[in-house]
Amino acid sequence: MIDLDLEADLAAGFPAALEELKRFCRIPSVSTDPAYRSGIADAAAWVAARLRQAGFPQVETIATGGHPLVLAEWHATPGAPTILVYGHYDVQPPDPIANWTSPPFDPVVRADRLYARGVSDDKGPLLIPILVAEAMSRRRGRLPVNLVVLIEGEEESGSPHFEPAVAALKPRLACDLAVSADGAMWRPDLPSVTVASRGLVALDVVLTGAAKDLHSGRHGGSAPNPLQALVRLLATLHDHEGRVAVPGFHDGVRPPDPAILAAIRQADFDPAAYYAGIGAVPPVPMPDGDALLVRQWLEPTLEFNGIAGGYAGPGTKTVIPATAQAKITCRLVAGQVPAAVLDAVRRHLAAHAPSGFRLEMPGHGSGTPAFALDPGLPGLAATEAVLAEVLGQAPLRVAMGATVPIGGVLERQLGVPTVFFSFSTSDEDYHAPNEFFRLENFRRGLVAWARLLDRLVDLPRKREP
Ligand SMILES: [Zn+2]
Repeated sequence: MIDLDLEADLAAGFPAALEELKRFCRIPSVSTDPAYRSGIADAAAWVAARLRQAGFPQVETIATGGHPLVLAEWHATPGAPTILVYGHYDVQPPDPIANWTSPPFDPVVRADRLYARGVSDDKGPLLIPILVAEAMSRRRGRLPVNLVVLIEGEEESGSPHFEPAVAALKPRLACDLAVSADGAMWRPDLPSVTVASRGLVALDVVLTGAAKDLHSGRHGGSAPNPLQALVRLLATLHDHEGRVAVPGFHDGVRPPDPAILAAIRQADFDPAAYYAGIGAVPPVPMPDGDALLVRQWLEPTLEFNGIAGGYAGPGTKTVIPATAQAKITCRLVAGQVPAAVLDAVRRHLAAHAPSGFRLEMPGHGSGTPAFALDPGLPGLAATEAVLAEVLGQAPLRVAMGATVPIGGVLERQLGVPTVFFSFSTSDEDYHAPNEFFRLENFRRGLVAWARLLDRLVDLPRKREP
């Protein structure tokens, strides 16, 4: 159903909506830096007030042990599906401030883009569904679906209190589908929906030889050198093409959604431009673009994030270090179990560790599994249909190499899938100076959210767990 009167209201209200977004962006809600504490409080209060003004009968700011959550509930349509809308009011630090063309918390429109810290991630995208709910209730006196809006304030600092807060609020967050207003389209020239993202596990490898650092003249050749042993040990973890060579590492990996493979073929990923973009010397021969994107989106990795030991300062130091260590993180794909991956890596390292050294492999938490939507999910089909209508082109199903915890948290705690429906684009410099939001996408996002909420009336209801 397309409600042209509603869409006319949204268009007429756009200048006011833009002024509101500017006001929201003037609040410096940097979550990671305690110096911005009052900005966080002000942003949470602003969101709560805006939800009340939109007509949400129940709005609450909820303490979490960190920055507060804002929870709004509007259960006015008995029998209709309940949709949980997710977003975050916190932003990345603005540094380096000198690189901004206009001040980060003084929003300015240039060339149909609004420039400000947080405007694309996630203040613009999260304001859209609130404005749409308000417009719907004004014109129709009701919403097509029940809405639960959950806006957090710690996304940019790793959401440390999000999962326990969701667990505590479970009954109030019960819903049939979660729709995230956070996330971003992959490229400005290609409409896309994110249907998968990789998980993460981390561990350290520490090899110890002698009880203390030794003189390499007096002991060289006879004493164990843990740096040498560590380099040999780490080299057993990959094959010659850089794929992980650990038995059991790939256990359970599920084949990717064929739609993602089709999107990769359609995306025309240019390997030369990719290497130039990251400033790296391209390998010889140049890899195939599709294969490179498959590696980036759909294959698990094991990366060395740091290797340390001995002396690495200026000049020389003739030392045999007592210990050497490496920091490792693995990106996981759908089907891999984080604990099983950690076990497999530890077993492999223990089996290949040279004698004469003490091996320790401390982990860092239990890890995060990959996120992958069921390709046949009705909520996904609804978002794709709306995007095709509004953007004039069927969206590609894309995966993301990075780790997005929210989908996993809502799946674990509430048993619902999360579809991503954000109108920011990943080139909008949202963790860098000069962050911007395309106003064209702000306008399209209002229409798209209106059509999505209307379409979700027909969403099959989830059975209570
Ligand atoms: Zn975000």
